[in-house]
Amino acid sequence: MNIEELDAPGYERVVYASDENSGLKSIIAIHSTKLGPAAGGCRMYKYGTVEEAKTDALNLAKGMTYKNAAASLPLGGGKSVIIADPHKDKTPELMQAFGKFVNALEGRYYTAEDVGISVEDIAEAAKFTSYAAGLSEGPFGSGDPSPVTARGVYLCMQVAAKYGLGSADLKGKTIAVQGLGHVGMYLCEFLANAGAKIIATDINQKAIEEAKSRFDATIVAPDAIYAVEADIFAPCAMGGSVSANSISQLKAKVVAGAANNQLADADCGQLLADKGILYAPDYVVNGGGIINVAAEILKISDQAWVNEKVERLATTTDQILSEATANNVLPHKIADQFVDNILASA
Ligand code: NAD
Repeated sequence: MNIEELDAPGYERVVYASDENSGLKSIIAIHSTKLGPAAGGCRMYKYGTVEEAKTDALNLAKGMTYKNAAASLPLGGGKSVIIADPHKDKTPELMQAFGKFVNALEGRYYTAEDVGISVEDIAEAAKFTSYAAGLSEGPFGSGDPSPVTARGVYLCMQVAAKYGLGSADLKGKTIAVQGLGHVGMYLCEFLANAGAKIIATDINQKAIEEAKSRFDATIVAPDAIYAVEADIFAPCAMGGSVSANSISQLKAKVVAGAANNQLADADCGQLLADKGILYAPDYVVNGGGIINVAAEILKISDQAWVNEKVERLATTTDQILSEATANNVLPHKIADQFVDNILASA
């Protein structure tokens, strides 16, 4: 395996691994270890170029620094990406080679699941490193983080509804869910149990059928999800879906969902506010999964520790939205300040 350092100002370390035998092409980006070893999932995606993969890894790694700090975890921010098609290229050998790559960083980075990576894939990687979490086996195995992420999103969505819709009760509210994957489907379950109506989209027909039959969800085409008559838009697919174009179509009054890096660029926060749409900052709302993974990394087997931290995400969201509303400041700016203060005093 060939491992080379990549230049990335503002990041502690960014490395690229290529391995001919397994076909592995992967980047690990460590943004900060100020609060502890970097932790963040591994994404497998069909990136067009190494540069595209690097940009994604850098954005995601920085997001993890903010997410872990906002969730009060003693962990820094990092992320890894594998350049491959999860539906075609994934083999045990590929994931094992990735495990060796993670191990080469000697514990400065812990990996786990993200888009395109399952519990089984992490188990393959873990054959060659002890710096992998989100395992179903083992004394501290925490399994799939997605249900915990979904619970955190659901709790924070209620808080956002309190500020953006006047009531935290989601009964009778319409939620537009973009992406019915690991998190999106669990989120729909929470929403359906709360009596919310679901309008959803996905590009995966099987997921669409499941959401229709289990939650009586109304299904729309991927491009049509922004313009539907909904109270809340919940981005639960890939990042960047809250863009100038999608914001111009949104009818929802609140954006709260699981996706990482939801805002397509720095102007989108203001564009949402200009339209009177309340944005619940993504990295606060979606911290449940990493809290679950952190319990495994930190060898904590007490589910109450996880629950308390996930519930605290809602308290943090409440503080952020309260301050944002009172001072007329964009919520994601308040969230960034909150984390910058934590990092400055670390
Ligand atoms: P996933 O891959 O299981 O689900 C993503 C879903 O989005 C898939 O069903 C996919 O078909 C669908 N999708 C892709 N492109 C789409 C499009 N253009 N329109 C509609 N649907 C589309 O991933 P996941 O684990 O559910 O994660 C969803 C998002 O939440 C990601 O951005 C991820 O980074 C973030 N996130 C996940 C976790 C977690 O615990 N899994 C934690 C924090 C953040």
